[in-house]
Amino acid sequence: MQIFEVLKSKGSDVITIDAGASVRELVSLLADHKIGAVLVASSDGRPSGIVSERDIVRRLREEGERLLDCTVGDIMTSDVVVCAPSDSVFHVLQTMTERRFRHLPVLDGQRVVGLVSIGDLVKSRIDELQSERDQLTAYISGSPA
Ligand code: AMP
Repeated sequence: MQIFEVLKSKGSDVITIDAGASVRELVSLLADHKIGAVLVASSDGRPSGIVSERDIVRRLREEGERLLDCTVGDIMTSDVVVCAPSDSVFHVLQTMTERRFRHLPVLDGQRVVGLVSIGDLVKSRIDELQSERDQLTAYISGSPA
């Protein structure tokens, strides 16, 4: 299965935030949308960063309450790893496991067309395995799936 197939069922909505927004605003955004990471927008369309709940937790120990008034730009990861709609789910899951992050923006050329989380990809793998199992069961028992 390829990433564009995951986006078909998940949708292409991507929540973004400005690098100059405060961490307080970021916390509200993550909570309101029930998500774990947001892309940091840039004028050319390519993401200038990504920031996840892990960045907040890590910096909280050093900054304490002051963290809420820091900017997203202070805590984001600037070197964003991306994937393409044509990449296989298996390959992207491998990247997430090796690099130890749970979110990957999907870029078609320079344009952001979605963001997949490890949860989205595990769900698609489970659905795929379930459908293969149903087909095999139907084949063995001689009835259509
Ligand atoms: P996550 O597991 O996605 O919550 O993120 C763990 C760490 O990796 C955080 O520091 C994120 O800023 C960073 N991170 C998450 N996704 C990406 C990505 N696609 N490219 C680069 N860094 C990322």
